[in-house]
Amino acid sequence: MRYFIGNWKMFGVPKSINILNKINSFHSKDKNRRKYRVIFTPPYTLLETYAKYFRNKRISIGSQNCYQKDLYSSNTAAVSPFMIRAVGAKYTLIGHSDNRSEGDTNDMLKDKVKFALKNNLKVVFCIGENKKDKKNNRTFSVLKNQITKVLEKKFNRNNIIVAYEPVWSIGTGKIPTKKELEKTTMHIKKVLKHLFKTKSPAVLYGGSVDGSNVEMFKEIRDIDGFLIGGASKSSKKFIDIIKNYYR
Ligand code: PEP
Repeated sequence: MRYFIGNWKMFGVPKSINILNKINSFHSKDKNRRKYRVIFTPPYTLLETYAKYFRNKRISIGSQNCYQKDLYSSNTAAVSPFMIRAVGAKYTLIGHSDNRSEGDTNDMLKDKVKFALKNNLKVVFCIGENKKDKKNNRTFSVLKNQITKVLEKKFNRNNIIVAYEPVWSIGTGKIPTKKELEKTTMHIKKVLKHLFKTKSPAVLYGGSVDGSNVEMFKEIRDIDGFLIGGASKSSKKFIDIIKNYYR
């Protein structure tokens, strides 16, 4: 199974559902439709409406983040996994570099993953080295650390997807070379297989993916799909990624 996940970040109002409707119609008629899943993570303001609207359609809806405690708390502006699941969303991103840079620690991320899984959300756990890590040849150790400090072997690996997003690639138009990606994704899968003592969860790539570079990624065996930011705000750009992937 392949995954195409669109992360809208701070984008979208109720009528932006038109973008997803076009993608949903494409997906319903696509001859390759059984080979992949499409998931979108709109902002919290749209979660309930979109999750209800797409309940019996092809697109699944998830949140971009969640709070690290169950049910309710006195934390202003926080939204718990319980509340996210209650409005019909099925997935949540956890550990996006935007949130790590705003203070999400490994301990917080571990709690988030734990509570999200407990509340029946599937987790898209984001990891990635920054420019300095890459320059200092620390990519492998940083990624291993990000995985092993957060994911536990008792977590249900079937409900976890790992998204490898080099921070220096997000929104910059810069992407790793094919060779770098082959090595890095193989490393990530090795760490995950060792942790879970069996098969690895799916591993996605994220960072400046578009219709023109996706063909390079499809040659890399260990990439099970994509987390897509900028190009997910346009139905045409998002559909082009899927079309070119299966060309
Ligand atoms: C992201 O924010 O997760 C992302 C991958 O963004 P972009 O595709 O714009 O680089």
